[in-house]
Amino acid sequence: MHDAQLILDRCDELAALSSHADYLERVHLSPQHRAANDLVAQWMTEAGLSTWQDAAGNQCGRIEGREDGLPALLLGSHIDTVPDAGRFDGMLGVLLAIQVASRVEPGTLPFALEVVAFSDEEGTRFGTALLGSRALAGTWDDEWWSLTDKDGISLFEAFQDFGLDPARLPGAFRRPETLVGYLEAHIEQGPILEDADRRLAVVTSIAGARRFALTMHGKAGHAGGSPYDRRRDALVGASELVVEVERLSKQGGVVGTVGKLEAFPGGVNVIPGRVEFSLDLRAEFDDDRDAVLAQIHAAALEIAARRGLEFEQHEIYRADAVVCDLDLRSAIEAGIRATGDESPLAFWSRAGHDGMAVVAATPIAMLFLRCAGGVSHHPDEAVTKADVAAALEAFEAAVRAVADQHAL
Ligand SMILES: [Zn+2]
Repeated sequence: MHDAQLILDRCDELAALSSHADYLERVHLSPQHRAANDLVAQWMTEAGLSTWQDAAGNQCGRIEGREDGLPALLLGSHIDTVPDAGRFDGMLGVLLAIQVASRVEPGTLPFALEVVAFSDEEGTRFGTALLGSRALAGTWDDEWWSLTDKDGISLFEAFQDFGLDPARLPGAFRRPETLVGYLEAHIEQGPILEDADRRLAVVTSIAGARRFALTMHGKAGHAGGSPYDRRRDALVGASELVVEVERLSKQGGVVGTVGKLEAFPGGVNVIPGRVEFSLDLRAEFDDDRDAVLAQIHAAALEIAARRGLEFEQHEIYRADAVVCDLDLRSAIEAGIRATGDESPLAFWSRAGHDGMAVVAATPIAMLFLRCAGGVSHHPDEAVTKADVAAALEAFEAAVRAVADQHAL
């Protein structure tokens, strides 16, 4: 329990590094990011790791294995946050990883052990997520340099302000042959563990999301003067589709959400002539997601035809589902069993994680930890000390199980 308390105290310390006095926000390449990297580096050093900041601003640490220079098992998560964040999303995974490393005797594992605190997972500042892990995985896109934050500062300038040289970014790439795999512990950010009265779970896959900008075109008109049989009300059509998104998603076992909707011209006495809305679809398997997408599209065309509307759909984001590696999954399951849970719960992550990017360089797996009410991306995020202690025990045992796999 002592280590769990230490981890919780450190979550509090990191939460104090915020760009806002009254809530937690710590974004990529900010002065608070600088301070967080320095603090994490200090804790890594105390845990016996040699430390460095990579060319993308990720804070890294390493313990050598039986020989110097062996490929590394990476443990990590992110230390950036959303606006008005909780204090466990990301940070807890970094601190658990450091604590696991502190328990490993240098020179004993059949691989090196590295901890990485990713600089950007949430994408809060530049609108594009996973910048830190994509740099590490070698899937960086040079078009991102011209992305700007809300003050007009480009990613290129922000790198320089942080003391990083954009020209050296490829130095952050990790070749697959230098890596053994990637394990991440993270709060669940959903209620499945709590509802099942369990502490820990192994993640089977990370959902692949597709996002669309949708438009329903109708015809604006006077709310008093237009009889119903002549109306082409875009909002009533869009509303019908929103309800269909929920029904078809539930039926197909996927998660569909319309999170934004705006009617134009937007007058109380004007029939909406155009509605712009969004669709976010995610599922454990891409085939299920795409099958429901086709049903939603067919429903949209049917509603539009029946109501004299026109429907438009543009894809704005697409990430395919990432399946967790079977060997690393079984190591995490062995870790959970080491805590006394004989039949570890396994389910897919509805939220995105750094592993989605890291998988381009090395196999990945994840350990989920219960959080109160499934609440996340909110200051009410909470975990118990006993659950953190169990997660630490499981995480350490998982690393030792990977070592056993490599000893064979
Ligand atoms: Zn996270």
